[in-house]
Amino acid sequence: MDEIRVRIAPSPSGNLHIGTARTALFNYLFAKKNNGKYVLRIEDTDAERTSQEYIDNIFDSLKALGLNWDEGPDVGGEYGPYTQSERFDIYPKYVQMLLDKGFAYECFCTPEELEAEKELATQNKQAYVYSKKCENLTEEQKAKLKAEGRKPAVRFSVSKAQKAFHDSSILHFEDLVKGDLHQDTDLIGDFVILKSNGTPTYNFAVVIDDMLMKISHIIRGEDHISNTFKQILIYEALGAKVPRFGHLGMILAPDRSKLSKRHGATAVSEFVEKGYLTEALLNFVALLGWAPSDGVEIKSLEQIAQDFRINEVSSSNSVFEYDKLNWMNGQYIKKMDIKELTQKAKPFLSCYDLNELGEEKLEKVIAATREPITILSDLTYDTAYFFGNDVQYEEGVKEKNIDTNIAQDILKYFDSQLDSYDFDNEEKLHEQLADFRTYFKEKFSIKPKETMWTIRAALTGRTRGADMGVILDVLGKDKVKYRIKKAII
Ligand code: GLU
Repeated sequence: MDEIRVRIAPSPSGNLHIGTARTALFNYLFAKKNNGKYVLRIEDTDAERTSQEYIDNIFDSLKALGLNWDEGPDVGGEYGPYTQSERFDIYPKYVQMLLDKGFAYECFCTPEELEAEKELATQNKQAYVYSKKCENLTEEQKAKLKAEGRKPAVRFSVSKAQKAFHDSSILHFEDLVKGDLHQDTDLIGDFVILKSNGTPTYNFAVVIDDMLMKISHIIRGEDHISNTFKQILIYEALGAKVPRFGHLGMILAPDRSKLSKRHGATAVSEFVEKGYLTEALLNFVALLGWAPSDGVEIKSLEQIAQDFRINEVSSSNSVFEYDKLNWMNGQYIKKMDIKELTQKAKPFLSCYDLNELGEEKLEKVIAATREPITILSDLTYDTAYFFGNDVQYEEGVKEKNIDTNIAQDILKYFDSQLDSYDFDNEEKLHEQLADFRTYFKEKFSIKPKETMWTIRAALTGRTRGADMGVILDVLGKDKVKYRIKKAII
């Protein structure tokens, strides 16, 4: 059997979209499962919409997700680098081949003429199909038009290719995900493969590249199904082996419309900036169309690769549930190695002077605050009271938890006790805090919870947060004293 070779072929007209990340993942998984190769190709033929910034973003995002390509830009390899704009000299040869075989022809129609054809179709309430006006021009006619300065585009003759290889106008293919798909090729107009400025169109360049890169399976979004029929005809006309195709359902927003910016983040880098972990993102997108056989949803890339089968991928659309992603991200945050998590958290703490704490204490802070959060950016607020001298009181806290007579008694007594607290011993601190709570309960019947709320409010400005022992330990005696004294009126 031929080697399995798949590719991800993003167009750099934006940052790597989460949908493209899913397509990349499914290709990657299919390659891994079959000991195949996974190739990256940058489809930048549309120079106006391409930018280096987007290309870099695509590289960085794929790498951050762990979807490293086996061949393609940056890596080199037998066929690399795979950037379409660097391959412009390759395509004309194959255009000529199709012209010679009679499967393509030069078209001299001006944009105005084409527009008029389209308008006529609209008036007659017909779907527009190119008239084939230029298909049978004589050499003389062509020479005359060229002499007038007209530069021809090249069109593919759909009907000629279809007739040469099929009995009827219906073209079928067996999709790996969706099963039999077919299309009446009479409804596909003769499409341009080479623009008059000499650049190939997407449908042509993609076939030539996939053919030369020996791509065996093309897994991509179902929005490409209509292109697939055109592409199959080009393969056939070139006498090339037609790859297998698998089209994935679309990713929809929770309101079932197309996922777009108005629903929230859509690019991988945007999710990362918001505080999502790439491991969680990858796990989450795997579930958009694929289901683990054992029902356990949280899985590493390696575990998913073992269980993945392309023919089990759902052919219907998937809904991007942001709530589920948040839950999953929270699970990853909870379980991640603390040193790794601390590194990932740092960009979200850049507003603080991290030197104030040092690495070890910072890890303690992250360990003590990671539990309820869903995204890393939550840490910005949740860790705020560990930094600086003063605290900002949340609304109502001062009035309710600090300025009352009972609270003031608690604070004063706590202040008087602080010198005896062992700030070098976290365990001991816990014990001393417990003794303190018991003292107020026994002496004044104040619930231990309330006692702690007061201390917490004075030290953090809040009534909820990290473990009190950790707070005391991280803040240290001086800061604790300072904040308690500040709370006493
Ligand atoms: N460059 C195309 C896109 O970004 C993908 C082409 C393909 O997968 O065939 O939509």
